[in-house]
Amino acid sequence: MVRTTPPRPITVTEVFPELSAYKRTAIRLHPRPGASSADESSMGGPLLWPAGEPWPHCTRDHEDEAGPVALLPVLQVYARDVPELPGWDWPEGTDLLQVLWCPNDHRDPSIDPWYEGPIPTLFWRRSADVQDVLHTPPASRFACDPEYYHPADDWYTLTPCVIHPEAVAEYPDAGEVPKELALRIHEWEEFSGPEYQYELSISPGCKVGGWPTWHLTDFHAIDCPCGARMQPLLTIASSEWHGGGESWIPVEDHPDTRDSDPLGIDVGRYGQMRVFACPTSLDHPIRLDTQ
Ligand SMILES: [Zn+2]
Ligand SMILES: [Zn+2]
Repeated sequence: MVRTTPPRPITVTEVFPELSAYKRTAIRLHPRPGASSADESSMGGPLLWPAGEPWPHCTRDHEDEAGPVALLPVLQVYARDVPELPGWDWPEGTDLLQVLWCPNDHRDPSIDPWYEGPIPTLFWRRSADVQDVLHTPPASRFACDPEYYHPADDWYTLTPCVIHPEAVAEYPDAGEVPKELALRIHEWEEFSGPEYQYELSISPGCKVGGWPTWHLTDFHAIDCPCGARMQPLLTIASSEWHGGGESWIPVEDHPDTRDSDPLGIDVGRYGQMRVFACPTSLDHPIRLDTQ
């Protein structure tokens, strides 16, 4: 079933035409619990992984000191389901993006000086190259210190979900537009408009591309060593909507049965993790940020 975001209460560019220059497409992924095969796009589902290629492991330190931890599938997207990666072209010759992470908290100053959480690894593939598929990946583990945690405290293992990609228009967080425009937006929403931040600018939930919110920290620039301002390639969210985000709930999700937490994860204190990539090249190293 498709998922459809309700129209925004107003067309924000009719009130602020200068926002048109900032319009970006976000592909909302709309994960919903369900089984998939390795030939389908999914979150937390089976990956099209070559049987002859070693399964990736995390070799960072873990609380239980039991050695490397097998990475877990987070996302698999086929280009046929998300033909447009907003801000990028699919890397030459690839049609499959796979994202895996270790389900344990790590810091990695080379990826981000302040970030703490699961550290994802991205693989770009040509699906036709994968002839023999690995059917049983090694088990991963939440390597917690049993003195403080219970295995059920595993926040980063996803409930397997199928995805329903949908393109929506997004506009930046008020912290990323010129101050003068941000002031006019604030003034307008105080007297007449719907809330810009929650209803008009940025969709909640998991997505590819679009704009990042800065509701927790205020805007801070994330720049690539090459000098380019990085953009969110992926947003992995703890919830698909909460708080002020309810106007973005797809029309197909019935009020009696819908669940805002289909993935059953908790990243960034029940927030979202964003994978920033360089608009110049997807070969440049990623950066991470949580809000
Ligand atoms: Zn690890
Ligand atoms: Zn770069």
